[in-house]
Amino acid sequence: MHHALWQSVLGEIELSVSHATFTTWFKNTELVNNDESGVTISVPNIFAKKQFEVKFNDQILEILAKNGVSPKRINYTITATGKRTHINRETTVNRSDQTQTAESLLPSSNSTAYQTKSPLTAGGLNPRYTFDSFIVGSSNDLAYTASQAVAANPGVKYNPIYLYGGVGLGKTHLMQAIGNEIVKNQPGTRVLYISSETFVSEFLDSIRFKKKGFSEKYRNVDVLIVDDMQFIAGKEKTQEEFFHTFNHLHQNNKQIIISSDKPPKSIPTLTERLRSRFEMGMSIDIQMPDFETRCAILKAKASLSGIELGQETVEYLANNIKTNIRELEGALNQLLAYAEMRGISPDISTAEGLLGNVRHSRPQYITSKQIVEKTAKHFQLKVEEVCSPKRDKHIVVPRQIAMYLLRSELHMSFPKIADELGRKDHTTAIHSVEKIEKAIKLDYLVREQVASIREKLYA
Ligand code: ADP
Ligand code: MG
Repeated sequence: MHHALWQSVLGEIELSVSHATFTTWFKNTELVNNDESGVTISVPNIFAKKQFEVKFNDQILEILAKNGVSPKRINYTITATGKRTHINRETTVNRSDQTQTAESLLPSSNSTAYQTKSPLTAGGLNPRYTFDSFIVGSSNDLAYTASQAVAANPGVKYNPIYLYGGVGLGKTHLMQAIGNEIVKNQPGTRVLYISSETFVSEFLDSIRFKKKGFSEKYRNVDVLIVDDMQFIAGKEKTQEEFFHTFNHLHQNNKQIIISSDKPPKSIPTLTERLRSRFEMGMSIDIQMPDFETRCAILKAKASLSGIELGQETVEYLANNIKTNIRELEGALNQLLAYAEMRGISPDISTAEGLLGNVRHSRPQYITSKQIVEKTAKHFQLKVEEVCSPKRDKHIVVPRQIAMYLLRSELHMSFPKIADELGRKDHTTAIHSVEKIEKAIKLDYLVREQVASIREKLYA
């Protein structure tokens, strides 16, 4: 059904754009979802995603409307062609899926230089993920240091270690690095890496088909690594089973390593006792690396492919891709594959050509009014409320965030900031900005809120 709809959209688009444009951007796209939340279109890579968001979105909306579909919005998701990823996102199979995105845009490229296919070991470890290949910056140094401590002395310090943060920021890489390091130092250590989805489905199978050996498999290990713990949310029976597994391992001083997209307290429907277990050891978040670290990552990855990228190109990519490292890597692979196929150098003009006019469509500047409006909207408040004298907590925090953003994005003076929000005294602005600066370091929720408003400002 979706397929027919998308075909008719494609049919119309094909008539209105050049053949090259059509094959470059519309090949390997698909309409994968259409419900209250909007229409979702899967595209093969980040370049396509940006092009769609910036260039084709309105046109697609128009054609959809002609076909009787008027979605609230269109979401673009990146999916490598062929296999759609589901369980075990991080296994080798899917890793190579990621790198194949380069080929999906560029079908005639038969380059394999940028694909690293490493065999998985029995414990689910991929030898590609090591501490050596992990670039450290201020966004991840705590996680890195703690992971190294765990690898040096499994089961002794930080048990469990719980790493959390958004997608593509290096959680799996670090956890796998711990596993690989332990096996390297102490061959024979039983390390098991799984996604929580695997745990869930094996647990359900063990009940449904009365399969034996489930609990033993997870209890007879020295190090248990469970990735993407959030998928256990809402599954009470599985959580109970995991609770017992956890206790068994913990009591025997076996190391437990967990990752999730959120801190334990923010995973909805996690049973209280499991939550308190997760909070027993050390939880650390990983954030998006800053500009310098992104540059360092790009250089390191390019040199792994034997290519030295110019500083300009590195900075161009690091400036334009701020979502996560997976997309950063994807963009780099794409650039290298494209340059190789064309026999040209992967320099800034090639990169610009690929990223298209994305850069120019970004707002060059934002106004103080936009900041206040977007902040108010994010918290579902009216601008007048944010600027009013009201001291209710649900208004005070958004107001402080607005002040913080005026300072961080526009470098406004404190008196001006106070003025902008209807405050007479500029020390209020100073305190507010300081308060949010601190909260960003300490409080995951505030950090998320600020990041999400900032993203909307530059969308
Ligand atoms: P997550 O599990 O948090 O979604 P991954 O660990 O899968 O993210 O990381 C996505 C990609 O980015 C992987 O290829 C990984 O090797 C790479 N990566 C992430 N962080 C770093 C880093 N600090 N240095 C080098 N590569 C990184
Ligand atoms: Mg992961």
